[in-house]
Amino acid sequence: MRVLLKSSLFSVLIQTCVFSSDSTSGGLSQYNFTKQDYLGLNDEYETPYFIFEGREKKTPVMILDGGIHGDEIASYMACDSIVKYLKLYEGTLIVIPRTNIKACNMNVRQVNFDFNHAFPGDLTSELYEYRLAYEFMWLVDSVKPDLIINLHEARTKWTPNARYDSEKAYGQIIISCLQPFEEFMLRAVERMNSRIHRYDFKFNPHYYSIREYSSLDNFVLKFGIKSYTVETWRGFDIEDRVKLQLIASLSFMKELGLVFDYPDIKF
Ligand SMILES: [Zn+2]
Repeated sequence: MRVLLKSSLFSVLIQTCVFSSDSTSGGLSQYNFTKQDYLGLNDEYETPYFIFEGREKKTPVMILDGGIHGDEIASYMACDSIVKYLKLYEGTLIVIPRTNIKACNMNVRQVNFDFNHAFPGDLTSELYEYRLAYEFMWLVDSVKPDLIINLHEARTKWTPNARYDSEKAYGQIIISCLQPFEEFMLRAVERMNSRIHRYDFKFNPHYYSIREYSSLDNFVLKFGIKSYTVETWRGFDIEDRVKLQLIASLSFMKELGLVFDYPDIKF
């Protein structure tokens, strides 16, 4: 019989690191990678995630997830880069680079079942995808973030006609399951596009119809939390896709009010 105590998810403090930045600009001289923790501790899908907290101010709070689909590699490469290079001064950021780690390790979209169709999840299921979805929902409910950004990649390139298709994902888009689009999302899209000069690299706001089984819709409808999905087109070079995922993620972080340093992204 599977025994998985909810409390175990947060109980293990794997490591605590406090870095002192050598920058002294603006008094923001210290930042904090607080800890690494796990979804599915001791289960077949044990998945690390990383928590960054500003030293003085721990709000607003954002969750960034990649690798919900294991073959959408730019998503977790961008998360890895943020975990490696981010210096967070204010707010909290939780990064889950390989949310569906078994699929990521196999470089496949899914293992038994589409993890993104397993929400809100079931801790007693034989399929790990349902257990993982339950734990992800529990993490969200515990943390109560102000924003959740889900990183994905699409097989179809965006065209203006995509605006009228609420059933399919395209690259490059930012997906909302709400209409009209929230001002917050539109400002974030404007922010990211101001850094992107090539026309077909720019992100387009996209409405995706409600799906009761999906992660995005559960975050928005069950918890009332702002959540959007980033899609880059898999036809672009991987280097460009990672940069575009980074620009989208960092733009959402800025728009939410996190204060941080991250190295310049050059196109
Ligand atoms: Zn996906």
